Parts: sequence; structure tokens; C-alpha cells
Amino acid sequence: MTPNQTPVVIIGGGISGLSAAWYLQKQGVPYALLEQSRHWGGKIRTELVDGYGAPFVVEAGPDSFLTQKPWALQLALELGLHDRLLGTNDDRRHTYVLNRGKLTPLPEGVMLIVPTQFRPFVTSPLISWPGKLRLARELFLPARTDDADESLADFVRRRLGAEVLDKLAEPLLAGIYNTEAEKQSLLATFPRFRDLEKKYGSITRGMLEGRKARASAPPAKYSVFTSFKTGMRELVDGLLPRLEGDLRLETGVNSVAANPDGTYTLNLSDHTQVMAEHVVFTTPAYVTARLLADVCDVAADILADIRYVSTGTISLAYKRDTFNHPLDGFGVVIPRSEQRPINAVTWSSTKFNYRAPEDYVLLRVFFGGSRSPESFELDDAALLRTVRSELRAMMGVEAEPVFTRIFRWREANPQYDVGHLDRIDALEAVLPAGLHVTGSAYRGIGVPDCVRQAQDTAAKVAESVKERA
Ligand SMILES: Cc1cc2nc3c(=O)[nH]c(=O)nc-3n(C[C@H](O)[C@H](O)[C@H](O)COP(=O)(O)OP(=O)(O)OC[C@H]3O[C@@H](n4cnc5c(N)ncnc54)[C@H](O)[C@@H]3O)c2cc1C
Repeated sequence: MTPNQTPVVIIGGGISGLSAAWYLQKQGVPYALLEQSRHWGGKIRTELVDGYGAPFVVEAGPDSFLTQKPWALQLALELGLHDRLLGTNDDRRHTYVLNRGKLTPLPEGVMLIVPTQFRPFVTSPLISWPGKLRLARELFLPARTDDADESLADFVRRRLGAEVLDKLAEPLLAGIYNTEAEKQSLLATFPRFRDLEKKYGSITRGMLEGRKARASAPPAKYSVFTSFKTGMRELVDGLLPRLEGDLRLETGVNSVAANPDGTYTLNLSDHTQVMAEHVVFTTPAYVTARLLADVCDVAADILADIRYVSTGTISLAYKRDTFNHPLDGFGVVIPRSEQRPINAVTWSSTKFNYRAPEDYVLLRVFFGGSRSPESFELDDAALLRTVRSELRAMMGVEAEPVFTRIFRWREANPQYDVGHLDRIDALEAVLPAGLHVTGSAYRGIGVPDCVRQAQDTAAKVAESVKERA
């Protein structure tokens, strides 16, 4: 092979591309990894802010990964990062829900959206009495047994009632996905609910059974949400020195062409070309659609139909002695019906240690998406004014932040609309041999799901490369 020929090219150096490279390398497959920006890691980006004694750890994208989905944890352990892992401060794990403008604690024992403890739920003011009675009826409703998709909103209304949708499911479950509950695919995002409905006839009964099983199991070794001592970028920094392939930053792929011998030629932003037998796209679906337009228009059309929204975060640091709120929890979720210009607030320095120096606190506010699209378009000064006024109204915060950091993620959040998994099956069925898509647009948006999909794709590619050899 010439220097510009390689069995596999991976496009995009976020966690999907980096982990695809890692799993290919582990199977002895040579690869090139091309990233258009100046940085590895894509949405995993941590800024350390010095000058205050110890550094602040400011996350621009993900602040943690779920360990119940084991793939990111396994990757971290493979990379020898076990000493660097950092769990949440679970003794302070409380979530608040904004309810008619007031912070209201999420009752103890609510798992996802289902109460599993009687007393805290019945005494909570979050759900009205008619709402609580409607929820109790869930135990007796007939179960749906077919496999058709439905929206998260339809599912929750059908099983648990409109109030649980408004106060719990919408801010907690649609919030995680930055999506609209009325459009969000149940099967692509929370398939477990349908499984519980089928198996137990009721998700409440299913959750209670799950709770019993967990109570008799040994305690989990890792916190449900885990990060690293100096932030999520440790996962990227842990991978990079171990990757031995052809790694190129500031190398965007402009177009892809199919060759008669079944290989592909990629035209790069530095005006060079590279040829490959396999191309793994980890780029956003609309970018992949553009790159595939001349190779497979049916695949390009399906990809172009995957919607994205733009979201952002603003981190605000304060001196502790000027800050008058106890920050006794992990933060606040805000139902859409509250109609606020921000979506949620994480109390980062309570959720994790090492996020702020001793005498300071750190918050992170989420904005944009379909909940507050107008906030995404504000300039920095107007955004900061809006966010500070929200923090004042919700938490009584009058203090002046010592610094703020704003990160905007334009067209960065894929939307798993109803029927999403069928669309992905159809996409995979039409992709020509040698072309693969993997990453957050397809079968899971979280970091663990991106790692799992990359692992699966690498296994498929490695098998084909070895067969040909
Ligand atoms: C604000 C925010 C908070 C989040 N919080 C969490 C969380 O707490 N936990 C969690 O698990 N997940 C979270 N997520 C989701 C998770 O971060 C992402 O889904 C995941 O990091 C996506 O990884 P990826 O590699 O698939 O895509 P990306 O990280 O988007 O990487 C794609 C890469 O492709 C590159 N690229 C694009 N076009 C080209 C081209 N033509 N040529 C070459 N390269 C190209 C881009 O520059 C980019 O680096 C969050 C996301 C956001 C935005």
C-alpha cells in the first residue's frame, strides 16, 4: 500500500472515532483517524481554570458517564485509569424540580420517574392528589404487548398520567436527551420501560422488583455517574498516547468517492487524498449525509432526516462566602411548562469533588434546544444577564461570579424521533459494503453508548479486513 492507502479510515476524532481506533488497533488493524478541528475529543472538552489556588474543572460537554452501561467504564479500566475515576458525592444526591417557580425536592425513592417508596411520594407537594391517584392506577392498567414505537409523552401519559409527564418525565427524561417528549422515541431512548410493561404488566411493579433485587445484591463498586478527577478529558488524554495509527488533526474530509475496485477515495481539506477499503463515519449525521451524497443517495437521504438541535452551557464560579444558597444537591431540572429561558442547573461543586477550590463553588446552567431556543441566539452579555436573573429568581443568588465560561454547541444534539430505530435499520441495510456509521446519531447518545457502538463497528470492520487478507 502507498502511504496514502490504508485498510480503514475513521472520520471524526470524538469519543466514537477515538474508541473505534482503539478497538481496531487491539485487533491489529491499521487505520488513519482524521479530525477536522485542532482538538481530539469532539464534545468531550474540559477547561482547567487556574489562578484561584487549585484549578476549577469546567466541562464544556459531558460531565460524567453512566456506569450501568458498562462500556465507557470498561474502556477507562483498560486504559489503566482506575485511580483517576471519580464518583458523585452520593450522600448529597438530591435533585430539585422547579415547580411553579419554587425549588421542590424530587421525593426520595423516585427511580427515573417511578416512585418506589410510598411515604416520601405521598407527602411530596410535587404531584397533586389527583395526579398521585392517577399514578397508582398504573398497577391495574392493561399492558401494551406489541413492538411498535411510541413517543415518550404518549407512553407516560398512557401509563402514569399527564402530571407525571409534566413534572417528572419531561424534565428528567426528555431533559437528558435535550429532546421533545412528544417526539422522542420510547424504543430508542427508554426501551426498558416497554420491557417492564411487557414482563410485569406495570412499570411500577417492574421497578419495585428491580429495587428488591438490587437491595439483596452487593453494593455497586462504581458510582452510577462517574467522571475523572480532572474531568472527562482524562478519557481522551488516556486514549491518545496509546493510539499508534495515523492520527491527523486539522484534516477534514471534504468528499468521498467510490472506486470501481470497491475501495473509497477521500478528498481532504489539505488537498491530499487517502484511499481505504473501509470508511467509518463518526461525523454528525448531516455531515455524513453530505459526504455520502455521491456514493449512496438513499443513505444520504435517511441521514439528512435525522434532526439536530443546538444547546449550550454556561459555567459560573463564585466565592463561597458571597454565595447564599446551600447547594444541598446535584441541581435543578426545569419542566418545559415552567417556560423559563434556561433548562437545568447542575451544582457541579456539590455533585463532584475537585470541581472548585475550597473557598469557591461552581454551577453549570444548560440552555437552548427546543425548550429555550431563543437563549441560544442571545449574545454572551445578554445570555449572562438572563442566566443571572434566573439564578436570582430560583435560588436567590445575588453574588457576582468570579468568572464565567460559555460553550455553544450548534446543531450538536441528535434527536431520536419516534421510529428512529427503524430508520437506522434501514440506513444500515442500504450502506454500501465498506461504509460504516457509528456515534451519537444512531443507537445511543451517551458516552458509554458511543464506546459500545464503536466497539461493535470495529469488530465488524476487523472481521472483514481479516477475511480479505
Ligand atoms: C452539553 C453536552 C452535555 C453532555 N453531557 C453528557 C453526559 O453528561 N454524559 C454522556 O454520556 N453524554 C453527554 N453528552 C453527549 C456526548 O457528549 C456525545 O454524544 C458524545 O461525546 C458524542 O461523541 P461522538 O464522537 O459521537 O461525536 P463528536 O464528539 O461530535 O465528534 C465528532 C467529531 O467529528 C469531527 N468532524 C466533523 N466533521 C468532520 C469532517 N468533515 N472531517 C473530519 N472530522 C469531522 C468533529 O470536529 C468532531 O470532533 C453531552 C453532550 C453535550 C453537547
